[in-house]
Amino acid sequence: MNYKKILHGISNWFVFFLLAAFVVTCCMTLFITVMADTLDLTFTEENISAAAKLTFGNVLLISLLFTVIDAMRRKLMVDRPTKRIISAGEKITSGDFSVRIESFGDNYAYESFNSIIDCFNKMAQELGSVEMLRTDFIANVSHELKTPLAVMQNYGTMLGSPDLPDEKRIEYAKGITDNSRRLASLITNILKLNKLENQQIFPVSERFDLSEQLCQSLLQFEEIWEQKGIEIETDIEDEININSDSELLGLVWNNLFSNAFKFTESGGTVLISLTADESCATIKISDTGCGISAETGAHIFEKFYQGDTSHAMKGNGLGLALVKRVVDIMNGEIAVESKVGMGSTFTVRLKRGDNIGMEKAD
Ligand code: ADP
Repeated sequence: MNYKKILHGISNWFVFFLLAAFVVTCCMTLFITVMADTLDLTFTEENISAAAKLTFGNVLLISLLFTVIDAMRRKLMVDRPTKRIISAGEKITSGDFSVRIESFGDNYAYESFNSIIDCFNKMAQELGSVEMLRTDFIANVSHELKTPLAVMQNYGTMLGSPDLPDEKRIEYAKGITDNSRRLASLITNILKLNKLENQQIFPVSERFDLSEQLCQSLLQFEEIWEQKGIEIETDIEDEININSDSELLGLVWNNLFSNAFKFTESGGTVLISLTADESCATIKISDTGCGISAETGAHIFEKFYQGDTSHAMKGNGLGLALVKRVVDIMNGEIAVESKVGMGSTFTVRLKRGDNIGMEKAD
């Protein structure tokens, strides 16, 4: 037992002594006065001094008893839960986020501790999932970087073989170009997403023609839809102006169109519609492609998630994460409806007035 504990015990005892002395003195004075008045008794100084000594001894004993009871109560009701919380806190500090504190049941005396324990457990869970996201992110980035690098290395080695026919040389060189492009796009997307997530990009709100932007963005895919023989149907209302960041919104259309063309087989159809009322613009991008299962649909907005691995080489699973982030920044909404084998429809709703501002709480 260290001296701080002893000092603390003595000061506690002293407080209880003062309290007990005050209460007992008041009660005794009242009792004696009433007794003396009603029974017409007179107390000598000797009587009073003997009674006072006895009472003093009693007060000492009572305050000692109170101090012991209080120390036991503290040990049980305060020290025990505090120790439990501290030991869990130490585990979290050393990196073990799996730790959870058992609550103290329905006992009212522990109500405040149970609330602290609830908060603590939620915090540990959140920290655990952030840690998992971080390690997953690193694993995903490393994987996405290694794959094209390995392919490029292979092509490079094969290009080095003597007497390589021209067509093979062209094929290998194209392989290197394609994969380096993939790497560059991956890094650009990671940087963009990182900036968007850390709010290092400050969206600028300007008035622009959304109808025009959608058409321009769609036209960039002309070569692809002609190559694949995909039919395009548009229902775009003219001159729908909105106040927003056109560059960031361009990212959204680009990714949604790119997916629609990527996941639609030759001979399919991609439909684009833009309708608007006074306050909102609704953009629908539909395709008759492979569709998204409910299981995949639950994850498509997550970073690096790729549902359809047969197209994995043509993307990195960051497109829809970027789209979602931009739509959130614009305080808009994005939804997807899809049936496997039938196609998918992505619907984006944006406010037409200034839509960049306070972000929605998740
Ligand atoms: P990527 O296209 O690079 O794989 P995205 O983040 O753009 O990554 O999309 C994530 C996943 O969502 C895709 O791998 C795919 O499974 C699914 N997906 C997105 N758009 C479509 C679509 N139009 N049709 C079918 N599946 C889609």
